[in-house]
Amino acid sequence: MNEPVGGQGREVIRTIEVFPVQLPVLRSFNFASGSGGQAGETITLIYVKIVGSEDSVGWGECRPVPQWSSETAETAISTIEYYLKPVLLGHPVWDRYGAHGKMNAAIQAGPTTGQPIAKAAIDMALHDLLSRRAKVPLRQFLGGTHERNSIDLSFTVTAHDKAGVMDQVNGAREDGFRHFNFKAAVERKTDLVVAETIRSLMDEDGFLCADANQGYGIADAKYAAAGFQEIGVNVLEQPLPADQLLLMRELRRATQIPLAVDEASVSPANFFEYARTGLVDYLVIKVTRSGGIWPSSQQIAIAQAAGLGLLVSGLSDGMLAKLATCQLVSVFDFHGPAALNGSQFIDDSGLFPTKSSVETGGKVTLNDEAGIGLVPLITS
Ligand SMILES: [Mg+2]
Repeated sequence: MNEPVGGQGREVIRTIEVFPVQLPVLRSFNFASGSGGQAGETITLIYVKIVGSEDSVGWGECRPVPQWSSETAETAISTIEYYLKPVLLGHPVWDRYGAHGKMNAAIQAGPTTGQPIAKAAIDMALHDLLSRRAKVPLRQFLGGTHERNSIDLSFTVTAHDKAGVMDQVNGAREDGFRHFNFKAAVERKTDLVVAETIRSLMDEDGFLCADANQGYGIADAKYAAAGFQEIGVNVLEQPLPADQLLLMRELRRATQIPLAVDEASVSPANFFEYARTGLVDYLVIKVTRSGGIWPSSQQIAIAQAAGLGLLVSGLSDGMLAKLATCQLVSVFDFHGPAALNGSQFIDDSGLFPTKSSVETGGKVTLNDEAGIGLVPLITS
């Protein structure tokens, strides 16, 4: 263990602990590439606690979803325990640039960042620690103000038949949701009916996103894009396989509907290429997919420089990742919609018994607590 060196700005990482937590799945969540969990099962959230040499504490969280990306709960735990922790103990808590450098040297990049979801939990814990140490909410620490604190959520529609969609949308509207997203390319023949039904029940200025999770081929993508545009879908997300840049170019030429990529945009360099070649209209911010707050901020800088809009989503994460994401995007005056739908699908109220103080129905209202804003109820 490293001894404290003392003095403001000299604190180093003393311990990193990993806590896998099993949580119940409330509703089945299926998308084109697989599932985020079936009702009645449990899923694993991974919490990371970092303690500094001057007793500063920070918490981070990640949720690997193997049918969505290439990380599993087991690989995230072993990556943190055996590869990231050894290089980070003794590292200055303030030095996030250096921390990412060490993490990326320990788990190298291929075509994109290696094991970004595991790295995001560390990054999040460091940011929580630093902003708690600075005694300000994370959004203020990152360059925002405590006054920008409100984010509208987007409801994820999972039904694929008209009656089921109507039930879900009407129920969500009663709960205060104004923005919606749905999983396309799961049952392709009903995609247009689903889109049309949701749009018909929404306010005109509500935002509707169709997310295909890599599920279309080029012919289906062109057909769906034309139909969605006619119906008034606001964006088509990740229509094609993430490694098929050529097909995205073809789709871009063939359609006018705004496009976005999600799975294909892990590192800042990935997003830069999409922005540079004009293939996307939005940056989809997903803090855990992108390795944490630090690299997500770099993606945001690229999006702003390219004049592209921001969209926000998650991996049906728990409250910590949800609030960390909201803290980050509120810096940039982003008020939603954010498809941070964890509360629709998993029950993390045992870890966050006061979650209703910050999330009600279709809205997150960040508190003025120092740090991310909530601490998981985990005893180490
Ligand atoms: Mg997506």
